[in-house]
Amino acid sequence: MSLAYTLRAMSEAGSPDPLFDQIVNLCKRRGIVYPSAEIYGGFRSTYDYGPVGVLMLRNVKDAWWRSMVQMRNDVVGLDASILSPPQIWEASGHLANFTDPLVDCRNCGARHRVDKLDNPDQCPTCGMSDQFTDPRQFNLMFKTQAGPVEGAGHDVYLRPETAQGMFINFANVQYTSRKKPPFGIAQIGKSFRNEITPGNFVFRTREFEQMEMEYFVPPAEAEQWYEYWCETRMQWYLDHGMPAEKLRLRAHDDDELSHYSSGTSDVEFLFPWGWDELEGIANRGDYDLTQHATHSGNKLEFFDQAANEKYVPHVIEPAAGATRTMMAFLMAAYEEEQVNDDTRVVLRLHHRIAPYKVAVLPLSKKPELAGPSMELFQQLAGSWMCDYDETQNIGKRYRRQDEIGTPYCVTFDFDSLEDHAVTVRERDSMEQVRLPIDDLHGWLAQRLV
Ligand code: ATP
Repeated sequence: MSLAYTLRAMSEAGSPDPLFDQIVNLCKRRGIVYPSAEIYGGFRSTYDYGPVGVLMLRNVKDAWWRSMVQMRNDVVGLDASILSPPQIWEASGHLANFTDPLVDCRNCGARHRVDKLDNPDQCPTCGMSDQFTDPRQFNLMFKTQAGPVEGAGHDVYLRPETAQGMFINFANVQYTSRKKPPFGIAQIGKSFRNEITPGNFVFRTREFEQMEMEYFVPPAEAEQWYEYWCETRMQWYLDHGMPAEKLRLRAHDDDELSHYSSGTSDVEFLFPWGWDELEGIANRGDYDLTQHATHSGNKLEFFDQAANEKYVPHVIEPAAGATRTMMAFLMAAYEEEQVNDDTRVVLRLHHRIAPYKVAVLPLSKKPELAGPSMELFQQLAGSWMCDYDETQNIGKRYRRQDEIGTPYCVTFDFDSLEDHAVTVRERDSMEQVRLPIDDLHGWLAQRLV
């Protein structure tokens, strides 16, 4: 499959910036992201995460889980089902309202989301003005059937967000975990939206992964927790290496807010096409629990024993996209720099996000070096995701690791057989230190926390 084909398939919206094409190219070349069903000519706007990409995507999710669940005593996890009955989406309002306004261009047949057009009268595909049909509302949920019988009564939906899983399990989780508000339920998983205009690589796809948390609070504390989560979530991106100048928190204007939300802010990243959303943090009031209580006939309340009163908790929701965030990390980390007469491509990823943490590189593939190098690989691989590479010269191997963001390369050479030491090369500075093999694990452990 030619690279030109791949680039075309992968950056459907065109490339607003050469950096965009370079990153899409790197993703294909290094097994980060492939266009899906490529051998059948491609399946529009779906992507497969390759051997390196699957590690990076998992690291994005693990970094989120670590800070949102593992390091907190007030948040627990959940993995709810993707297939869901219509009652959930009736109650949540998605059946009626999860729509985008769609127009067709009479001249070229292209479809667009009216709310995303720069000029609502002009078709960005063919450039013609005043050719749009009247806008009609298009529901974004994928519908299918459960069981062998088709027809009404058997309809089920692929969830378009993970959040409803947390609301419908509020009572189960609260009862079994014995948490009291303020407490949260977090979930990472696939969501599906029949987007009218997917594009910009993995930024907007029809199948994607979300990282969402519903934080249930006493009503009087909602505003304070909303502000807390806006700050905490911004800090998470900064702590994982996003440059501050490419990140902003944008509060929604009143006309952007859903009717039940008293405040929503987006964490936005400066993509090649401009500022765009990575995550939304919303103060949702008691809307979700009240809707599900009304539609299901089950009370979704908390009984505060100390105050001897019942209340419906309010909800603060930080909702992020895992696949979209991975793309932003790639864009922020990608750098080309001149080293002597050569151009070095390097992904300056935070070590928690980097696909591999360490690469073990025997200087030569001769058995006397390859044997102990493989032993070293196996020792380190018990603690971290490690790569092992014995092909080509060492300079080329360093560059290959730079391109996928591996923070440390460990070279085992002929001297290692005598001095029981190895050379460790750091990705960003390219500095090298010689370390006794016995100290290597501890040295890496200090740096890879
Ligand atoms: P947008 O305005 O971009 O359509 P949204 O406001 O509808 O997004 P939310 O419903 O708040 O998005 O979803 C939370 C997060 O899920 C988004 O911030 C984004 O990171 C991610 N997300 C939403 N839709 C998609 C998609 N089609 N492809 C990839 N990620 C998505």
